[in-house]
Amino acid sequence: MIDSPPTARGHSIGALSNTFAALPEAFYARVAPSPVQAPRLLRFNASLAAQIGLDTGRLAAGTLAAIFGGNELPAGAEPIAMAYAGHQFGNFVPRLGDGRAILLAELVGPDGIRRDLHLKGSGRTPFSRAGDGRAALGPVLREYILSEAMYALGIPTTRALAAVATGERILREGSVPGAIVTRVAQSHVRVGTFEFHAARGDTDAVQRLADYVIARHYPDLRSAPRPYLALVATVAARQAALVAAWMRVGFIHGVMNTDNTSIVGETIDFGPCAFMDAWDPATVYSAIDRGGRYAYANQPLIAQWNLARLAETLLPLIDEDVERAAADATAVLVAFMDDYERLRLADLRAKLGLGTPEAGDPALVQALLDLARAQSVDHTLLFWRLAEAVIGSPEGVRALFVAPGTFDAWAMAWHARLARDPGPPATIVARMRAASPAIIPRNHQVEHALRAAIDHADLAPFEALTEALASPYDEAAATSPYAAPPRPEERVLQTFCGT
Ligand code: AMP
Ligand code: MG
Repeated sequence: MIDSPPTARGHSIGALSNTFAALPEAFYARVAPSPVQAPRLLRFNASLAAQIGLDTGRLAAGTLAAIFGGNELPAGAEPIAMAYAGHQFGNFVPRLGDGRAILLAELVGPDGIRRDLHLKGSGRTPFSRAGDGRAALGPVLREYILSEAMYALGIPTTRALAAVATGERILREGSVPGAIVTRVAQSHVRVGTFEFHAARGDTDAVQRLADYVIARHYPDLRSAPRPYLALVATVAARQAALVAAWMRVGFIHGVMNTDNTSIVGETIDFGPCAFMDAWDPATVYSAIDRGGRYAYANQPLIAQWNLARLAETLLPLIDEDVERAAADATAVLVAFMDDYERLRLADLRAKLGLGTPEAGDPALVQALLDLARAQSVDHTLLFWRLAEAVIGSPEGVRALFVAPGTFDAWAMAWHARLARDPGPPATIVARMRAASPAIIPRNHQVEHALRAAIDHADLAPFEALTEALASPYDEAAATSPYAAPPRPEERVLQTFCGT
């Protein structure tokens, strides 16, 4: 165990529990957050607190900073660091675990959903290896901005409840301010959690974990004829929906390791993730992804690969007959890709405003994307402005093309295709608006906000950007200064996880 100074026990913030801590000791280490020098609340997400049933309204900022900075354990908290393994860039690491994070507690919200409260950057744990257990201010604010933007986009995601400055400096590339982000998730069980136990040959633990996940997240599966196969299929369906949603908005996770793949299909572990500006399926931003394994267009394949790692851990539970287990699991993985492709095509059709399906739709979509790629057209602006062209204002979208005539030619075919769909233009536009946001977290704006916070202790750009991203599908969002793509000199080419 880690020797940390005693943490004060204090205020009640709700009826906290911890069902994960009821699992055997092999699943986690009991460890409290390590107190920090001078916790200061940078931002608290009061609307999220209310939504999940936290009772924090009467607490002063100082108390919130003490709790979400790890200096005070709220009443009923049972802090643990979770054990997990993971395939990182394809290589198996048998022991990762929460090296700088603590699952503080769980809480059941007014909606009946149980959620984890999880501190990241809260000090060393038995899983820390050489790490310092801390997080830097930049990545903490980055996770705050991006996870809340993801939520506003309507995409399954962990969320950010609080960002607290620790008042301590930590060593990264030089000395930087430390911070802690409190993350809210429906689960912190990852594919890597299953791998941790499977790699140790502990089939009983894998079964305990599967039963836990089914009971907590997928209770309907308890009565399925083959619950463990159904579990893989259900996780696969969640991942298909998740990755399709990422693709829809141009999101690149950047580190789709199995330890960053949630069993409930939420976007988790916002490291060097980024939204693409100009459309290019080969886009990679992450500085550590040298081979482009996690490039934008690879994400569905990687999700399938990660699901295969999950299925492998469950094979002995899926069927006594090894070959049958493998064949059934393989069928689930194939179904994943079918599922994904169906969802992706539906999104792309919606982005073009198409209603009833036609066989030529994929080619029509592809023709537009090919033009966009060749002419480096901004992905978000393209689809936002395309909707304006439905009602006779093509100037905006035309202006995105270096050779507008190529767009005009495509648009002739598109209008002819739209004319075969029943329904008024307003219906078409509404369909397009629902599929394509006006605003995404632009990398240059995110960098700008982080730099202001790190270099000048100025949180105003962070606050303003966070607000601007809160209603991404509103017409008003299109006129926000944050909606504009980067000028050439503003372009961010690489992002860093900063761990
Ligand atoms: P991540 O890249 O955040 O998904 O983390 C991968 C693994 O490295 C996890 O086991 C983390 O807990 C661990 N890790 C990352 N940063 C640190 C740190 N500063 N101290 C200790 N462990 C860390
Ligand atoms: Mg991780």
